[in-house]
Amino acid sequence: MSRLAGKVALITGAASGIGLATALRFAQEGASVVLADRNEQGLAEAVPQLPAAGLTHLALVMDVTREADWARVIQTIEQRLGRLDVLVNNAGFGRFQSIADTSLAEWRAVLAVNLDSVFLGTRHALPLLAHSGRGAIVNMSSIRGLVAGPNTGAYCAAKAGVHLFTKVTALECAAAGNGVRANSVHPGHVQTPLTAAAYAKPELAAQFLAHTPIGRFGQAAEIAEAVLFLASDASSYMTGAELVVDGGVTAQ
Ligand code: NAD
Repeated sequence: MSRLAGKVALITGAASGIGLATALRFAQEGASVVLADRNEQGLAEAVPQLPAAGLTHLALVMDVTREADWARVIQTIEQRLGRLDVLVNNAGFGRFQSIADTSLAEWRAVLAVNLDSVFLGTRHALPLLAHSGRGAIVNMSSIRGLVAGPNTGAYCAAKAGVHLFTKVTALECAAAGNGVRANSVHPGHVQTPLTAAAYAKPELAAQFLAHTPIGRFGQAAEIAEAVLFLASDASSYMTGAELVVDGGVTAQ
């Protein structure tokens, strides 16, 4: 269990769902994890769950849409841990809304959390990641970054943006020869606090499952395995790629 031994990983949205599952998995594999989230209470409950022998985990409250928060978080990591090897841009959310029902403020809020955050995180973390020599960026997109669904306009636009922005990051890092790889993960329908309310409605759950060949919802731990692979040296020849973890939804 040492696929991330000696590495420091920053995970946003780590107080819940896929981010929390990823933090747990990374710590199991020997990483010191920086859990970042705007949910202070959630962070306080998350950190004690991580295996900690020989590791230093930090919980940092931040809003991923605020550039000043990114500057503070990266500075804190440099001062306290001295390095950064992995950045997982995971924080995000969406809401079901038709284009007609979406205000400009709601559109901008979804774009800010899902897409601005990835740009800000990448820009601020890159110097430390480059210094690592084997840096890895894993950006959380979605199947909604690959195929559209009704009533998900802002979310689809943001996650599709994450998809191609990841490839641009990969190309720029390769050209710079800084050793940083960047890849995106595209989960399908995964049971987390984000989706709990929707999946609790039997008719909605049945609708989602009808389009999921594997016939069940995904679990956060199953997404964490894909993130772990892309964060570790096991994926050393992968950059600018997308990893779809969706129970077959987009195979149809
Ligand atoms: P979640 O709600 O369980 O966790 C998201 C975390 O992000 C929360 O802890 C929340 O506090 C944090 N967060 C939200 N906005 C933030 C901000 N501005 N600053 C800092 N932290 C913030 O959701 P999840 O299902 O684990 O989703 C994680 C990621 O996976 C998201 O990017 C989501 O879009 C993506 N995703 C989820 C699914 C799914 O079915 N659950 C499918 C595809 C993609």
